[in-house]
Amino acid sequence: MDLLKSEDAMVARRIQCLASHLVASPILASEETLSLEVCRNQNAAPSSVKTDALQEIMTGAGREDREKIFKFFEDRPDLQTPVEISKDAHRELTYKQLIALVRECGVRPLELLMKDPARYFTVVEAIGFIDISLGIKMGVHFSLWGGSVMNLGTKKHQDKYFAGIDNIEFPGCFAMTELHHGSNVQGIQTTATFDKERDEFVINTPNEGATKWWIGNAAVHGKFATVFAKLILPSVSGDADMGVHAFIVPIRGMVDHSVLPGVEIRDCGYKVGLNGVDNGALRFHSVRIPRDNLLNRFGDLSRDGKYTSTLPTINKRFAATLGELVGGRVGLAYGSVGVLKVSVTIATRYSLLRRQFGPPDQPEVSILDYQSQQQKLMPMLASAYAFHFATLNLMDRYSEMKKTHEDDIIADVHALSAGLKAYITSYTAKAISTCRESCGGHGYSAVNKFGALRNDHDIFQTFEGDNTVLLQQVAADLLKQYKTKFEGATLAVTWNYLRDSMGTYLSQTNPVVTHRDEKMHLRDPRFQLDAFQFRTARLLHTAALRLRKHSKRLGGFGAWNRCLNHLLTLAESHIESVILAKFNEAVKRCEDPHARKLLKLLRDLYALDRIWNDIGTFRNQDYVAPNKAKAIHKQVEILCAETRQVAGQLVDAFGIPDSLLRAPIGLQSRQYSEYTHYVGF
Ligand SMILES: Cc1cc2nc3c(=O)[nH]c(=O)nc-3n(C[C@H](O)[C@H](O)[C@H](O)COP(=O)(O)OP(=O)(O)OC[C@H]3O[C@@H](n4cnc5c(N)ncnc54)[C@H](O)[C@@H]3O)c2cc1C
Repeated sequence: MDLLKSEDAMVARRIQCLASHLVASPILASEETLSLEVCRNQNAAPSSVKTDALQEIMTGAGREDREKIFKFFEDRPDLQTPVEISKDAHRELTYKQLIALVRECGVRPLELLMKDPARYFTVVEAIGFIDISLGIKMGVHFSLWGGSVMNLGTKKHQDKYFAGIDNIEFPGCFAMTELHHGSNVQGIQTTATFDKERDEFVINTPNEGATKWWIGNAAVHGKFATVFAKLILPSVSGDADMGVHAFIVPIRGMVDHSVLPGVEIRDCGYKVGLNGVDNGALRFHSVRIPRDNLLNRFGDLSRDGKYTSTLPTINKRFAATLGELVGGRVGLAYGSVGVLKVSVTIATRYSLLRRQFGPPDQPEVSILDYQSQQQKLMPMLASAYAFHFATLNLMDRYSEMKKTHEDDIIADVHALSAGLKAYITSYTAKAISTCRESCGGHGYSAVNKFGALRNDHDIFQTFEGDNTVLLQQVAADLLKQYKTKFEGATLAVTWNYLRDSMGTYLSQTNPVVTHRDEKMHLRDPRFQLDAFQFRTARLLHTAALRLRKHSKRLGGFGAWNRCLNHLLTLAESHIESVILAKFNEAVKRCEDPHARKLLKLLRDLYALDRIWNDIGTFRNQDYVAPNKAKAIHKQVEILCAETRQVAGQLVDAFGIPDSLLRAPIGLQSRQYSEYTHYVGF
């Protein structure tokens, strides 16, 4: 009888603990500290709480692909990346994982990339959950090498290379960056000189600084590379430089995999992260390739050496070439949101379960009941949702661009992908560290993933365009749109809001609105979006004025540099506006009342937290009066506390399987595995 009673008590305690993830109960009633091991395999959401609709919204598109991939890797322990692994073993495992994904699991990334980009990006995110090295190796082979051949080449290249790239018989690299030129691609020095006699290009690295550097897949596995080089046409009157073009250059033999004559390959060695990817350096000593290997979509050369292009200038051809490569950036933005979801899930679940301190003579409280912990994690959770909808929209725009090839959509996707990639990857990089810290010492255990996530994700801020450089492209685009507006033309869709908000800004701010501080007003999406757009419009207007003023004395380059921080703030502000607008659309689209309530809560938190973070700007412009600023802060605290009540539910809706929230322990670690706490279970 006693035994039954104590079992009943245990069950009741457990239900109470689990329910505490979801209901307003700041202090757990149970006397017993909940063991992580006990909770590890429990479902965080009792069945009475509906999470289906929200999970459908967050994982609906591409669910089949995701589940197929997760199941495949779950069933194959030999393909799971253990915590302790050497660089060389990791590289081989990553390659094996990629081949198995295609040949055994039946995922065809190149086909998806060409025919259904949205599904391709879903696969990218799912693969990132398995191992980010695998995601990047996949991106290098399919999106960069495959994408460059398919998008910069013409039918003859597509026919010849598609199958080999699709089934990885032609593993390849994307060789753009050089030792002396990274962000400034037009400064690269590798040359491709046409030899009319032999109908060949001669690929040459003129000096050490022109060595292709950091090239993924080059150190070990690649057999081909898309090499970016200046196309040189020799003539009696001297060499003509036709600008940067892309060429297919074989680097290793198809049969014995030996490095081909004239190609020199070095290994970039052990990196801070992503050690499953074999980055290498490539030098070319007068390597000859057939004229046909020029990827000739934007510029072609006839047998008699006549150059033709539909685009009139080197700059236009260069812009068109780079424009075709934005897919990599879209993938990184999307993948970065996946990394944020994993980090926030682990940190939130741990914080719900971990208890430290409490009122005298009472049980210890969950650390997520501390206001400070809420304020660290809940805005991050809201951001993961916000970024999710923004990148979904980017994917749709990208798919539309691939179908229509319309100039205004191309320009829109270019700026949007640059801005979202820069903003999201910078945010996630910082968020991972905060999540690690939120899990205290256990966050430092390698099985709990933060180390790998932080190290592997860090470089997302640099490759596919350095974030600071990308934000400048967004700012430049905004200034172009601003000029267009004053010339009376139509604005690109994403920038349409500037027309209205510029008008609002240029008129006086409304003194009644600046003082309104009631909850209903602060949680009104119109107030929130107006505030974001007011800030962008103001920054844009003042940047344009400052640039005009400084350029008289400093010239264009000097004036730009003088206003650089202002321009970066402008770009970030614009991207935040776009993210919020997309979040609003998602709330409106949501038909399920329970899910809509949750999304609205997160949207309010995302918006008001961002406004509070930049409250100085809003105060300086008298857009927000002191009483309103105080009320915004209060609302952020309340929204964090409200989000905490449903935090377990909200992270469950990301649909990340428990097994992917911890890293498998390698054989070597078995002896200490019993001392390991999985914090994200
Ligand atoms: C792991 C890894 C994998 C990679 N894979 C590939 C690959 O497969 N193929 C490939 O071609 N490349 C690859 N890269 C190269 C990558 O794309 C470049 O590192 C990136 O483009 C940045 O160039 P950079 O390193 O020369 O930095 P730099 O351009 O020298 O930048 C250094 C710093 O200067 C600042 N800076 C530069 N220009 C400006 C400016 N105009 N205004 C303000 N600040 C500025 C940047 O913000 C940055 O902080 C890889 C790199 C790494 C590390």
